Amino acid sequence: MALTALEISKNLPKTNCGECGNPTCLAFAMQLSQKKVALDKCPKVTEEGRAALEGAAAPPIRLVTIGCGDHKVQVGNETVLFRHEQTFVHPTGVAVQLSDSLDDASLAKRLDEVRRLVIERVGTEMRIDLVAVRADSGSAARFADVVARVQAAVPYPLVLMARDPSVAAAALQVCADNRPLLYAADADNWQQMVALARDKKCPLAVVSNDLTALNDLTPKIASAGVQDLVIGLEQQTFAQMLQALTIIRRVSLKKGCRSLGYPVIAFATDPDPGQAVNQAATYVAKYAGIVVLDRAAPADLLSILTTRYNIYTDPQKPIQVKPGVYEVREPNSNSPVLLTTNFSLTYYTVEGDVDASRVPAYILVVDTEGTSVLTSWAADKLNAEKVTAALNSADGVSRKVSHRKIIIPGLIAVMAAKLKEQSGWEVIVGPRESAAIPRFLKAL
Ligand code: SF4
Repeated sequence: MALTALEISKNLPKTNCGECGNPTCLAFAMQLSQKKVALDKCPKVTEEGRAALEGAAAPPIRLVTIGCGDHKVQVGNETVLFRHEQTFVHPTGVAVQLSDSLDDASLAKRLDEVRRLVIERVGTEMRIDLVAVRADSGSAARFADVVARVQAAVPYPLVLMARDPSVAAAALQVCADNRPLLYAADADNWQQMVALARDKKCPLAVVSNDLTALNDLTPKIASAGVQDLVIGLEQQTFAQMLQALTIIRRVSLKKGCRSLGYPVIAFATDPDPGQAVNQAATYVAKYAGIVVLDRAAPADLLSILTTRYNIYTDPQKPIQVKPGVYEVREPNSNSPVLLTTNFSLTYYTVEGDVDASRVPAYILVVDTEGTSVLTSWAADKLNAEKVTAALNSADGVSRKVSHRKIIIPGLIAVMAAKLKEQSGWEVIVGPRESAAIPRFLKAL
């Protein structure tokens, strides 16, 4: 549980010396409680105070890193139950699982499908994060071989799903350097799995059919030397899993329950594809650290990744595109110029509609701090002065076109006269709705 400023101040020297840049220790404690400064800023904190504050400041849900390099996945370290309280920070890792009992041709086909699972939405590239390989064949050699092939074919971190420690050990021989997640330790095999995870410095999943048993098992594993844990519940119905995810998040954040303070892995593997998507999206929304899917059809994945995208963006920071001049369909010096704002959703809607018109054009994107046309106009973030400055900027659109005509959104038609006066450009009032842009451009 996060400490309050008052609780933190009890462990500070209370000299109010100001060396941390704050007038009092309490002011520093307030900054610390909001995570705006580091404890190191106070040079006078005692060893006991530091120990107390660092222990209590450990995240209620451990941050666990799987993989390494550009594609590493970090899950956990969440501090709130609800997104509107602050923000969720580490998006749920989405994994696709493969079986080592697939024949070579089927395996190659599945890997090819996984490689092509890249979806672009509002200018953001979305893709899966992990590949889980299931040891179904019963052969350690086959499992290690398939793991090696998967590792060579895709850049994503791996989840090694082998309950038999000797099978898991064989796969670790070929991929331990890439820090896979070892799945899983249970009440029967945990000593051997802990030895493997400790030896190879890999994160370890700990599973049980029962939340109480899981709560008893994790402290044993943590004291045996493996702290980077992911926890999971097996043989749960959809409703039971949802309930467990909620309980785990609540007791971790609200009760300071360290033994369940780990990211949770959940399986959305219902045989009905629609239901599996429903499961996955629900688990993403309700606290899963990793969601494992059986199938990876692009349409299914789009729903899941869009849900994740919406939940894990900071609600206080609108998604923005860079202000500037964008070209659609190789425009030339006679092409029309359309004005819009740098709110991502607005820009990509306009860009899509300009593209649909098949008329090559320039889009002038003005910095409105990520707000939409009407909002930015109402807040004076989009005005004649700003647009004029954007038109006249050194690398602006005035250097690209020979005419001086700009099309503004119909919603801000009221700006036309002032913009014409300030910029000297002819101002054409475009449609109020972006959907009408194709017909409008074709009729120009
Ligand atoms: S430096 Fe430390 S002791 Fe001095 S005011 Fe800041 S918190 Fe208090």
